[in-house]
Amino acid sequence: MYKLNEIQDFKYLTFPSLEEYYDLFHCFTTRDGGVSEGPFASMNLGIKTGDREDNVSENYKIMAEKLNIKIEDLIKTNQTHTNNIRYVTEKDKGKVMQDPGYKDVDGLYTDKRNVALMTFHADCTPLFFYDPVRKVIGMAHAGWRGTLKNIAGEMVKAFINDFGCNPSNIKSVIGPSLGQCCFEVDKDVADLFIAVNSKYKDFMEMKGEKYHFDLWEINKYIMVIEGMKESNIEISGLCSKCRNDLFFSHRGQKGKRGLMSGIIMMK
Ligand SMILES: [Zn+2]
Repeated sequence: MYKLNEIQDFKYLTFPSLEEYYDLFHCFTTRDGGVSEGPFASMNLGIKTGDREDNVSENYKIMAEKLNIKIEDLIKTNQTHTNNIRYVTEKDKGKVMQDPGYKDVDGLYTDKRNVALMTFHADCTPLFFYDPVRKVIGMAHAGWRGTLKNIAGEMVKAFINDFGCNPSNIKSVIGPSLGQCCFEVDKDVADLFIAVNSKYKDFMEMKGEKYHFDLWEINKYIMVIEGMKESNIEISGLCSKCRNDLFFSHRGQKGKRGLMSGIIMMK
């Protein structure tokens, strides 16, 4: 489930299961409402995508103004398809992907307010986490490699170990990304998953020679293994490649694309 919000031509998504919390801000941006052109049209939030830097900066200004958030509150991942997650606080605000000490971080989490966690996506799965009891949030980038390396499980474990969260209280949204319709891989990738957990076979389908994975359901399954309730996990159901009109898609645009963002913050 999802809700598509529009402020003039700026479009972004929110998710019903997280919307009920008045002190929680969250969103997933779309490709609409920015100034970038060509394959980056138009709300590209990725710096190292080949887009003009002045356009990306302008997009940040537009996005922050429309969403009523501060650019200086953002903390961004430097994603490299790892399962590394990092605890951040006010001190980390404004840090960008290239900063020393922030390399290879695919997930961020915090118990601090007014700290906005930001990840980048164009097919890879965004995972939002929120524990409304302990007041902890997390944001992760889980492409197939991150999923294979159990980044969702790492996040839930960190919530439990660092803050004493009861996993049955944690809520998650699995956002727009490649659906089973479009996540097609060869046997070598399928074998990697089966080697980790033979149960993953249940989330694969053969189409000719190719394997189609349901990464949304695999991430959900991983969260349930860690103690989360199925009913606390919401899947947006939006495939970024099928909806290339609304989303950037790495596969749909043959690698030439901008990046969208998942953002979560406690106010
Ligand atoms: Zn699709």
